[in-house]
Amino acid sequence: FDWWNSSNRQGYAPICLGNEDFYTRRLYLRIQDCFGRPISSAPDAWFDVVERYSNDHNKTLKRTDKVKHCLNLGSYNYLGFAAADEYCTPRAIESLKLFSPSTSSARADGGTTALHKELEEYVANFVGKPAAIVFGMGYVTNSAIIPVLIGKGGLIISDSLNHSSIINGARGSGATIRVFQHNTPSHLENVLREQIAEGQPRTHRPWKKIIVVVEGIYSMEGELCKLPEVVSICKKYKAYVYLDEAHSIGAVGRTGRGVCELLAVDTADVDVMMGTFTKSFGSCGGYIAGSKELIQFLKYACPAHLYGTSISPPAAQQIISAIKVILGEDGSSRGAQKLARIRENSNFFRSELQKMGFEVLGDNDSPIMPIMLYNPSKIPAFSRECLKQNVAVVTVGFPATPLLLGRARICISASHSREDLINALEVISKVGDLVGIKYFPAEPKKE
Ligand code: PMP
Repeated sequence: FDWWNSSNRQGYAPICLGNEDFYTRRLYLRIQDCFGRPISSAPDAWFDVVERYSNDHNKTLKRTDKVKHCLNLGSYNYLGFAAADEYCTPRAIESLKLFSPSTSSARADGGTTALHKELEEYVANFVGKPAAIVFGMGYVTNSAIIPVLIGKGGLIISDSLNHSSIINGARGSGATIRVFQHNTPSHLENVLREQIAEGQPRTHRPWKKIIVVVEGIYSMEGELCKLPEVVSICKKYKAYVYLDEAHSIGAVGRTGRGVCELLAVDTADVDVMMGTFTKSFGSCGGYIAGSKELIQFLKYACPAHLYGTSISPPAAQQIISAIKVILGEDGSSRGAQKLARIRENSNFFRSELQKMGFEVLGDNDSPIMPIMLYNPSKIPAFSRECLKQNVAVVTVGFPATPLLLGRARICISASHSREDLINALEVISKVGDLVGIKYFPAEPKKE
């Protein structure tokens, strides 16, 4: 395993994500970081225990030796709603008193409260579709809905970097799966052309149905989907478009309505709009929005909806309240300010990192910015050195990325202050020098 790191003479650390015991047993490797320090082999060493999230976007970690307060640069709390909020929190508490934490029932058996109805109306209206259906978990939304939409005899064409929940749903559906090169519309077209002739009517082709699945923002790459091109290719070949907006809804677009708004795509051209409430809305659960007929069909055909307990009422109330704030229905301009702030923060942080000489993936306006580390042994070194200086970053390696494409994934929030970001940049710059991950010459600082 020498091939991957000439500077690491003593250690063997090709895989740094997951429990060391698991990998050592399987691969017979000692795992160390690029300073030759062994990575903890304690069970659950990879699951930091968080004691508290605070409104200033800090988190408190409980470590065996001490309690640590650190700036959170790793959470999906894009608009800062995943903390006490003057509008959302009192309403969520009220709904907790009224309905309790759980309905303890499936939607059809007493699990549909007034909040669930209101939530579905708000979501449909917010994303720009006639109707919506909600689920208690984002992951389950993809993995349970895809098999209801398509089955044996159908064809799913999936972006090569789609999320695990999509892959899970696609595999469980029994449909044939073809993968196209990540965010490459020309390759999508090639794959479609191999399967059907252009303009062939849906009734005269070998597939009962074709669904193309893409994400609004790719969570490991920070890239925006080339949605306008995808939509026009799908129109040409009469394929359905399924868009997962987990990371884009609420986070991008002038009024927070996601990539369709940002890239000027008509939502009528996206057949199935999926998203989660765990990121921009500070809650939990997921949704599917589409035509009235589609949603009506899903309500009766999807086992997870029929037999799974409905989304928790306080979680539903949190989402409704967050959407109201985004839309300005709380009577304040906080929503608009949050949207402006996340854009400014993201673009500022990205350009500063680039000026320092880091290789940063992703597009402008995207709040996700992966800093490339490449070498797997640099992954734990980078996160540990940042954490020492009270900056918590999420680092990602195999199997979530290819083995040699490890990265630190920074997620920016509207609740980061400019001062927070400047301090974090200083820390990341120092750690970048220490670990040796500035792959480009730094831009000279302006006087
Ligand atoms: N889709 C995508 C693209 C995701 O990144 C995620 C999780 N980050 C999910 C779905 C699952 O959502 P949740 O975490 O809300 O269950």
